[in-house]
Amino acid sequence: MNRNTWLEQWASRIALRVPVRFQLGKMPYAFFFAQVVSVFLLVFAVISPYPYAPVIFSLFAVFLQVLLVCIQRGMSLNLAIHLGTGLGAIILLYSAWVSGGIHSPRLSWLLILPLTPFYVINRRSGIFWLAVVMALQVFIAVASHMAWVPVFEIGDAHVLSSFMVYTLVTCVLIVVPLMYDHMYRQALEASRDHQRELEERREELEHASQMREHFIANVSHELRTPMNAILGFNALLLARLGDKPEARKVLNHTRQSADHLMTVINDILDYSQSQAGRLVIQPETFELRKTVEDAFELFFPRVKSMELAYRIELDPALPQWVHTDRHRLMQVLVNLLGNALKFTHQGQVVLRVQWQNPGVLFAVQDTGIGIAKDRQAQIFNRFSQANGDIQALYGGNGLGLAISRTLVQLLGGDIDFESEPGQGSRFWFHLPLTACPEPQQKPSAARMEVQTAQLPWRFLIADDHPVNRLLARQVLKNAWPHSHIVEVSDGLQAVDMLREQPFDLVLMDMVMPVMDGIVATQMIRTQLPSAVRDVLILGLTANVNPVDLDAFRKEGLDDVMLKPFEPDLLCAKVEHWLLQRN
Ligand code: ADP
Repeated sequence: MNRNTWLEQWASRIALRVPVRFQLGKMPYAFFFAQVVSVFLLVFAVISPYPYAPVIFSLFAVFLQVLLVCIQRGMSLNLAIHLGTGLGAIILLYSAWVSGGIHSPRLSWLLILPLTPFYVINRRSGIFWLAVVMALQVFIAVASHMAWVPVFEIGDAHVLSSFMVYTLVTCVLIVVPLMYDHMYRQALEASRDHQRELEERREELEHASQMREHFIANVSHELRTPMNAILGFNALLLARLGDKPEARKVLNHTRQSADHLMTVINDILDYSQSQAGRLVIQPETFELRKTVEDAFELFFPRVKSMELAYRIELDPALPQWVHTDRHRLMQVLVNLLGNALKFTHQGQVVLRVQWQNPGVLFAVQDTGIGIAKDRQAQIFNRFSQANGDIQALYGGNGLGLAISRTLVQLLGGDIDFESEPGQGSRFWFHLPLTACPEPQQKPSAARMEVQTAQLPWRFLIADDHPVNRLLARQVLKNAWPHSHIVEVSDGLQAVDMLREQPFDLVLMDMVMPVMDGIVATQMIRTQLPSAVRDVLILGLTANVNPVDLDAFRKEGLDDVMLKPFEPDLLCAKVEHWLLQRN
């Protein structure tokens, strides 16, 4: 049990009974202290053998009660304490004067006089009263030395009175620090409670934020999976259409809408990854000019139907090869160009890329609606649009610029803009790029003619989605018409199938019921006979987190392909591995 428990219970009981003004904070203690001192004074009024003592002590007790009433009526506690201490000093001076001067035990009361201002008001008040007390002691010492103080005969009454003085002073000396200690503990406990509450709140928020990230990642994953089928079949149909312009137009529209949906999904996914600090950069060496032109040309179909001058100006001094994350650079360019075209109805949109030695400055200038001055400061914040009407008129999720800024910063650069409402905007970003030597191994072209089309490769497709299996089968059958293709719907079936017959390559979905792609790959690599153990395994996943992708590779997959995949790219990859192995 806490040694202060009795005091706490007692103090709280008193606190409830005292007048309203004395119920909170230090006030119960002040009230209690004044009452104790009043009782002492009355006791001394009765037992003190000195002339006028009964009157003086009783008057002081009454004075204390009057002070309490004044406090109750609104007088400040600090003023009341100074007044009480001052009067106390006068009374004690009188008591000491009549009871032996410097030899009087009453002087011990003087010692505790500064305690109340010290504990209840502040340290400065305590030190002030300590100085007053010391001055009084000097005065009494001098007065005693000069024999100014009256001489008196010591009798029993004096002995009793002196004994009482010492006893009470001793009690007060221990009670005051105890009370202060109690107050301190209470404050400490309250602050600990508050801290605990804050900690719980922080944990709750962290949990909620994790749940949100998890949810967003899950939803995006679930969305990417069917997009695989939509985009994949679209590409297959486009390849088979031949010369049917009307049908091609319809399929192109579907393709554009699906692409747009993919950008939205990717934006959400990127955003959730950047929030979780998991957005990772994957630099490669590539041709700067070509990448910028690719991003620029992506909008040709859209610009065709607009009355706009859509231009690109590339500085001839630009380095040919640079080393950075090509995909992310494209993403930022596409974002800025997309915005410029979205918010510009007439005039022009120009993409300028300049060599700044060092670094490259990319700028997208438009003659569009511009951004109101008061909204410009927030435009890079997530979910921020220039005003409420923008969403209704132009759509958008307000994530594009926030993601672009994160990406540019991850690439080591900075991004900003200037905009004049009604005149247009200029968004620019600077990347610290330098010229690189041409890479030894050229990046594999996406569109690659299959060289082994006539070979009877044996493929195993493991995917729980029948539509995705169908798509993969069609893509493989198109490229290798003589291939032998077997489908299974989970990892365990894939392992069993490999035990039964040999395959040249397995297309393994990562997320499957019963047994996922990772566990199945581990089993194949460790438990199957050595002849089948080394079969080529190409993982398919809608998980775009590079950290996870690396982990997949470490588990024994030969390569990983992101869903939705370009059929041509999948075939190129399959062919690359088959040629390397055989
Ligand atoms: P959104 O997907 O909504 O366009 P962004 O983050 O890309 O999200 O852009 C945020 C907002 O910034 C837009 O909604 C628009 O109000 C404003 N904005 C961005 N680019 C331009 C531009 N070129 N001209 C005018 N306003 C722009």
